[in-house]
Amino acid sequence: MMASLDRPELQGLAQLSKLVGNTSLLAIHARVRGQEVTVYAKYESANFSGSIKDRMALHILGRALEQGQLKPGDTIVEATSGNTGIAFAALGRALGHPVTIMMPDWMSRERVSIIQSFGATVVPVSAAEGGFVGSIQRAEEMAQERDDVFLPSQFANQANVAAHATTTGPEILAQLATIGRAPTAFVAGVGTGGTVMGVAEAFRAAGCSATIHPLEPSNSPTLRTGSKVGKHRIQGVSDEFIPAIVDLDTLDEIIDVHDGDAICMAQQLAQQAGLAVGISSGANFLGALQLAMAQGPDSVVTTVFSDCNKKYLSTDYVSDEPTLPDDLTPEVTIDSFDVLQPACLECPSRA
Ligand code: PMP
Repeated sequence: MMASLDRPELQGLAQLSKLVGNTSLLAIHARVRGQEVTVYAKYESANFSGSIKDRMALHILGRALEQGQLKPGDTIVEATSGNTGIAFAALGRALGHPVTIMMPDWMSRERVSIIQSFGATVVPVSAAEGGFVGSIQRAEEMAQERDDVFLPSQFANQANVAAHATTTGPEILAQLATIGRAPTAFVAGVGTGGTVMGVAEAFRAAGCSATIHPLEPSNSPTLRTGSKVGKHRIQGVSDEFIPAIVDLDTLDEIIDVHDGDAICMAQQLAQQAGLAVGISSGANFLGALQLAMAQGPDSVVTTVFSDCNKKYLSTDYVSDEPTLPDDLTPEVTIDSFDVLQPACLECPSRA
């Protein structure tokens, strides 16, 4: 997508693209109720600003720069629950843009501090002011009031889906091909839904018939109900509505994971395997294990570890989380993992 390098900001983008995506794929060997299972997860904390959201931010900024919607000096303004803010703050500053992030005020302290560390402005939005939906409205109002504002609009922007259709999905297919395998399923917690929709698009374009599963917290099922119901602690997923880029009719069954089980599994990934991943990664791993058990010994279930655990050190991630009778984590032992390195260092999508 970055063919023309005559403008300095496009040159900057080309450099940043070397630090985004092309992550390793982990083959994680575990036992669930005594049964041996291997599932595959992209190790996304290796990205520039530490999460999978760099893929989306880089792609949206790249398209906007190329198409002239983002001009030098424009302020990037986005509503986000965290990692997106960090990604736009880091990439935006690297490209010389001021960044303003509208964010619900209940997100972890670390996220706010990290965004501010890049010199970005954080505008906290309380539940009384509309929370997540209120954050999006505030961003749109700012764009209406000023003509030097660029809104990435990650929940509605098809470039979010395209980021994963051109990187995450093809990378998984290429990495599995190096061991002679192809995915039978993909599962990912839905925030904007960019990951799950984009990987679905890539798999289908490649003629891969894997089932594709959105995942959400069982104690706050936005996808199943269409709106916010209840509270949950899996930051980054299940916000307050079904995003415009998500088309549930094109996806397979929704996978449910209790937030406490996701916390326990994130802790267990660190304690048993040294994998310092965030809470949504714990949820995704549990979803992948559920699918691997259901699909049987020939399954090749894939998912993403969206970020690392350091953004959750002020949350229940560090608590002694009680286990509930239906939790899967106590039935799981993680034995080891192998690393499938990036198979595509000069992928055409980023050349
Ligand atoms: N996990 C974490 C930690 C995230 O920050 C996000 C992004 N909101 C997701 C999962 C969900 O990714 P997506 O927006 O692509 O659905």
